[in-house]
Amino acid sequence: MTEQTTGNPFWSPAVAKLQPYVPGEQPKSTARLIKLNTNESPYPPSPKAQAVLTAEGIGEHLRLYPDPESTELRATIAAQFGLTPEQVFVGNGSDEVLAHAFYSFFQRPEPLLFPDITYSFYPVYCQFYGIDSHQLPLRDDFSIDVADYNIENAGGVILPNPNAPTGRYLPLADIEKLLQMHPQRVVVIDEAYIDFGGDSAVSLIERYPNLLVVHTLSKSHALAGLRLGYAMGQAHLIEGLNRAKNSFNSYPIDSIAQKVATAAIADRAWLVDNCAKVIATREHTCAALSAMGFDIIPSTANFIFAKPPGVSAEVLFEALRARNIIIRYFNKPRISEYLRISIGTDEEMDALIEACREVL
Ligand SMILES: *Cc1c(COP(=O)(O)O)cnc(C)c1O
Repeated sequence: MTEQTTGNPFWSPAVAKLQPYVPGEQPKSTARLIKLNTNESPYPPSPKAQAVLTAEGIGEHLRLYPDPESTELRATIAAQFGLTPEQVFVGNGSDEVLAHAFYSFFQRPEPLLFPDITYSFYPVYCQFYGIDSHQLPLRDDFSIDVADYNIENAGGVILPNPNAPTGRYLPLADIEKLLQMHPQRVVVIDEAYIDFGGDSAVSLIERYPNLLVVHTLSKSHALAGLRLGYAMGQAHLIEGLNRAKNSFNSYPIDSIAQKVATAAIADRAWLVDNCAKVIATREHTCAALSAMGFDIIPSTANFIFAKPPGVSAEVLFEALRARNIIIRYFNKPRISEYLRISIGTDEEMDALIEACREVL
């Protein structure tokens, strides 16, 4: 499907050359499956968010275009983080927010800096927008050495914190160093997993005009199907994103998504509780797999990155697949001996642990 590079007479040359992102498998039926491959929440979203969907008049409302500025949603996000609505941008999933950020800030002659092992959409956006990249190797323990990023003539920096797919967290003091190294360029911190134990860089926005922090409702808010992500930064950066957005699609967030997301973000108590459950299951799973001899990278996310003992990652991946448990295997340099396992319910993780025992 994505292998085609020679093209079709109707495709533009640019499209013929693309190598699109390949998402984790989304099987048609998940009935008998333990699905631990794309970092979704094992629990349903906030009841307050769900209640929006059955509210009277919600269907009738679709007659009208949505609010192009998502005013209420942005105000709710701003209030949650002590920002103003002018410091918030929303998009159709954080992938769309990131795409606009690449377009708005990183299209420059100098290369964009990011880790060699990271979210695999970054190189895809680079290719899409013709941006050069300089990929800096993680240390052998998969940690980031920010001193490596002290490179003159960089077009910007992007990294997930915690990193994906390693789950490793970078302290805010290191993020400040990156911001200070590149005062004339934007540093994007992609905090898709920050609610599972890290400190958000949002607290630095006031002091750093070059910081953009990106969040998603797909993981910690259990709303992957809603497609809602947002960026926070000083108003001049948000204005840059709006220029790109309003040149592409002025209504990216439908009116139902605006209402569901607003209710979800306002329900902070649900978020804290949901993340605490996932963290407790993560710690229990890490302890059990560690005891079996897995090498586990310390995780601050809703997944773990682990190397199985005595059997290759690919073999274990296939053996689990045969037992209806799907996790993520990356056939890539440096990480082909590791598996990324999303945190499910306690029962799902017990089934995973049991299946690993059988295979090993
Ligand atoms: C899941 C993920 C995203 C994408 O989130 P969506 O809001 O679902 O598009 C972005 N960045 C990282 C690092 C992720 O893991």
